[in-house]
Amino acid sequence: MSRQDIAVAEETLDPADWDETRVLAHRMVDDAIDHLQGLRNRPLWQEMPASVRANFVSPVPQESQPLGDVYSEITVNVMPHPMGNHHPRFWMWYMGAGNFTGALGDFLAAIDGSNLGVGNTAATLVDRQVTEWIREMMGFPAGASGTLVNGGSMANIIGLMAARNAMAGVDLRQDGVASMPEPLRFYASDQVHNCHEKAMNLLGLGKGALCKVPSNDAFQMDIVKLRAMIHANRANGMRPACVIATAGTTNTGSLDDLSAIADLCRAEGIWMHVDGCVGAPIAIAPENRHLVAGLERADSVALDLHKGFHAPFDVGCALLRDRRQHRTTFAEDAEYLQKMSRGIAAAEFLHDYNLDTSRGFRALKIWMMLKEHGVGKFGRLIDQGIAQAQYLRGLIASTPALELIAPTVTAIVCFRFNPDGREEAALRALNIEIMLQMQEAGIAAVSDTTVKGRHCLRVAICNHRTRRSDLDLLVHQILKIGGDLLAIDGVARERTRTSSNLGPR
Ligand SMILES: *Cc1c(COP(=O)(O)O)cnc(C)c1O
Repeated sequence: MSRQDIAVAEETLDPADWDETRVLAHRMVDDAIDHLQGLRNRPLWQEMPASVRANFVSPVPQESQPLGDVYSEITVNVMPHPMGNHHPRFWMWYMGAGNFTGALGDFLAAIDGSNLGVGNTAATLVDRQVTEWIREMMGFPAGASGTLVNGGSMANIIGLMAARNAMAGVDLRQDGVASMPEPLRFYASDQVHNCHEKAMNLLGLGKGALCKVPSNDAFQMDIVKLRAMIHANRANGMRPACVIATAGTTNTGSLDDLSAIADLCRAEGIWMHVDGCVGAPIAIAPENRHLVAGLERADSVALDLHKGFHAPFDVGCALLRDRRQHRTTFAEDAEYLQKMSRGIAAAEFLHDYNLDTSRGFRALKIWMMLKEHGVGKFGRLIDQGIAQAQYLRGLIASTPALELIAPTVTAIVCFRFNPDGREEAALRALNIEIMLQMQEAGIAAVSDTTVKGRHCLRVAICNHRTRRSDLDLLVHQILKIGGDLLAIDGVARERTRTSSNLGPR
């Protein structure tokens, strides 16, 4: 029997019929375009009925089925129920609104399929170029390094880990935190994002190592108090290591005074890290870039491309001024991963700059978006969002039933429905109800927060599809729902009063 006669049933994941697959894939693209074109005319969000939820509780499929059937399920049960952040009236939390080019980029990246941990590939060159472009946009000096990661939280961890290792005074990578002669102290304002607490936990320093500096009336870190805390800690045998400045706080969009913090860090010999997940892209916005002056003086910056640049999830970036420090923080050697002078392993190992081994081709979507639109468009969109936030602030200021809760300096507006000055708990309940009714009706999505003890609604405009008329509609809806709730409330009160009148005397 010859070798060929032995029947071996070898399988592959490739389609049995490429032509059929081609037709189906084309339909997916057509549907995707319809989906985006029709966004404005669909509800922003809808609660999923039990029938939809039931679809996602079945055991692992044993049998095969045509891809067309799988796709049908997606059209029925998945695509009608997104978060809504692509919709023009989504302003919850702070996240981007996506874009079609970016989606194509993710698809093509998967088709290219390169692993960007290591590799002498075009994908690696695209990644390097995108990181260089980000460096350039943020005004960091040539020679500074950067790495694309899955988001802002990880980008912050990269920066803070480099800061910790640079400032520890021992070989922290080798000997660990137990070898540190003095406990490290990091500083951030009381408005800092909670990913920094996770970072402190991960870095083995503990949340207690993150000193919260009170913010002033503009929700900026109080520099005088910061300096006093640094000096007091030092006098008590601690080692002040890093100031985490926030460019664009999550609560109110306020910006710490980056230039003043850079001066202080230089004078004190402390690492300056900027959490720029919200505000770093302002550096490319012609009208507002002065707001983030000093960003380019930081030792490290974390930013988010899936926020202000609207790249599809997920992608963030950490920039480090000192490439050597960046690399020594992360690079490890392995006998099974040796760099070559020729062939596929003849390239800089990108996983030497972060915690990854394997890395996806996140860079391609950004590369395509920046090439298609040019950096100027992204800058103008940042300015547009800030101008829209000012427009909304104006609407609120001229509406007596609405109350502004914080200054609007970037694209976040904090306010509440407060028609009759009732007490805090009642206002909170009323505003939460308005927020939830707007979400459930699929009209608009805003979130809520508490700012210096006052609960409020929060509109974060990071959405290239928003128009001013959408903000008009928001105000109109809040007043309408709020008015209806007060009317119901009034009737209920009246009932309670009359029924008690009818009670036994
Ligand atoms: C969003 C945000 C983060 C976290 O970024 P992710 O991309 O969600 O991980 C960190 N800091 C600030 C100020 C943010 O707004």
